[in-house]
Parts: sequence; structure tokens; C-alpha cells
Amino acid sequence: MARARTPHAIARADDEKVNWVTSIPFLALHLLPFAAIWTGVSLRAAVLFVVLYFGRVFFITAGYHRYFSHRSYRLGRPMQFLMAFGGTTAAQKGPLWWAAHHRDHHRYSDTDEDIHSPLKGFWWSHVGWILCDKYNGTDLDRVKDLAKYPELRFLERFDWIGPWTVGIAAFLIGGWSGLFFGFFGSQVLLWHGTFVINSLAHVFGRRRYVTTDTSRNSFLLAFLTMGEGWHNNHHYYQVSARQGFYWWEWDPSFYVLKALSWVGLVKDLKVPTKKVREAQRIRAGNFDVGMFGAYTAKARAALAAAGDHAADIAGARRRALEQLAASARETADGLARLLEPPTPATVPVTQRRRRL
Ligand SMILES: [Zn+2]
Ligand SMILES: [Zn+2]
Repeated sequence: MARARTPHAIARADDEKVNWVTSIPFLALHLLPFAAIWTGVSLRAAVLFVVLYFGRVFFITAGYHRYFSHRSYRLGRPMQFLMAFGGTTAAQKGPLWWAAHHRDHHRYSDTDEDIHSPLKGFWWSHVGWILCDKYNGTDLDRVKDLAKYPELRFLERFDWIGPWTVGIAAFLIGGWSGLFFGFFGSQVLLWHGTFVINSLAHVFGRRRYVTTDTSRNSFLLAFLTMGEGWHNNHHYYQVSARQGFYWWEWDPSFYVLKALSWVGLVKDLKVPTKKVREAQRIRAGNFDVGMFGAYTAKARAALAAAGDHAADIAGARRRALEQLAASARETADGLARLLEPPTPATVPVTQRRRRL
């Protein structure tokens, strides 16, 4: 059976550190959905939650990822603007920042230059890199094709307008419950729904194609992210607007794009040919636990080392006891010799005389 190459841990650079102070608002925002304990969850808030989650996932997957990062189809300028604005509502910065960092991820996948490889640590790849000052900026050289549009640069600069608009709308539609559960609840899930593609999709699932990275395919992640979970497919053929390569691979972001292409709003959807899909395929692609395997190997080694350590301690204790027992035996022998009454034959002549 073909297996993925064994991943090795990569050390993070010295400047790859979480800035805990500037991360406080992001971390504190995770608590806001709990306000639903007091506001309750109305039907409107529940509907808002589902619509705002999947609606914004679409703008991230079909927009920020497949369009702005990979240019896997064409859009007219007004649609491009709408797609970018929709992406900003997900509170993941602007399209230029997102695409520039994502293009870097593909360029350096799972090497020390990769911003968010799980080989640098699972939590780092999931969220740590976002909370690190080093990656706040945008390398415009990476996204020259996008930076030439002033309207995209405007959205990049005022990326807060999108989430604030959606938040206020959620409050007007669903009241406090709509705001805390519908908006903030879906926001937190949306962040982590996006982050799992950088973390879990490189750790958990099946590999269909031989790629130089640790990417994997997972139905569970595809369901959560409207089709992004076919991440091994995607790393293998990045230019494709379709990430679920077969009819059974759930990819609703592509289905929506396909429907938009029927009415002419989306053009030139790139999809893999049968030949591309079948080439370099791992025929007996087996489910392997990926980097979890590396973690369990590490845990096993640690346990074995701990066992050796325990054996060392037990050995040292046994040797000390043996030494103690030996010296106790010597002491006892010595005492016994001292206390032994001298036999007559051994009494010196002088002493015999004194007794007389
Ligand atoms: Zn990508
Ligand atoms: Zn990836």
C-alpha cells in the first residue's frame, strides 16, 4: 500500500510568535456567542446562523480561495467587487491579504517557508500564525493581478465595513439573539471552519495523489466547508474551480459556481480532465492518520524513553540496596567477631598469668 512520506517537524522561526496582547479582542470575541444563554435562541437567530455561516463560507471558498487566490474562473468587474465584498464580511481581512498568504502556502507547502504548515505545530497552523505580527502585512508583489483594481484596494483598506454591515443587519433582523447567536455564533464557527483547512486538512484524511505536501481529502471537512475538504485534490490540481473531482465528492461551492455560469455571471470554470484526474493517482490510496501517526510515534518514543528511565531508576535502586545489604552484612560480621568470646587457646600468656 502506498503511504504518505513521513512528515518531520519543522522549527518555527524566532519571529513566529503569537502576540497575546493584540490577540485579546479576537480571543474575547469567542465568548460573545455565550450571551445566547441570556438572550435565548429565536427561530430567526437560528436561520441567521445557518445563512450567515454557509453564505460567508461560500464567499471564502468560491471567492477568496478559488477566484482571488487561484483565478480558477473569470468574473466581470462588478461581480468581482461583489465577491470581494462578500469575502470581507467573513472578517478574514481583505482579498489581497488572503490571496497573497494563500499563494505563499502553495508555493512553500510544508517546508520551513510555509506560513501555516502543521509540521510547525497543529495550533500554529490552525490559528497561531494569524495571531503573529509577522504576517499582518501583504506582499503586493504576490497579488499584482488584484492590486491593480482600485475598488479591491478600497475594500482591502476598509475591510471592517463588511462584517459591521452584516452584524448590524443581523441585529435589525433578529434582535440581540440574532446578533449574539446568529452573527457572532456563526462568525466563530466560520473562522474555525476556514482554519481547519490549514490545520486538519493537512493532518486528517485520505491521500489520493502523490503531492510534495501533507494535504488530505476528507468528507467531514468538505461538508463543513462547502467542498474545501478535498484538499489533496486541490494541492494536486490547484487551478481547478472544482475540488470534489468525482460526483460523490460533495462540493457545493462548485455547484453554485456552475449554476452562476449558466446565467453568464461566472465564466471559464476550469475543471480537471479525466486524464488529469487519473494521472499520479495512488491506486490503493489508504486511509492513514497522517500526522496523527507522527504524533503517536512521538508519544510511543516518549513512553519508551520514560520506560527506560524508570528501568534505570529501578536498576540504580536495586544496586543501592544490594550495596546497602552488603555493607550491612559486613557490619554484622564485624560486630559478631567483636562480640565473640575469645577461646582459651587464644588467650595470651600474659593474661593467663594475671588471672592466676
Ligand atoms: Zn489553495
Ligand atoms: Zn494546503
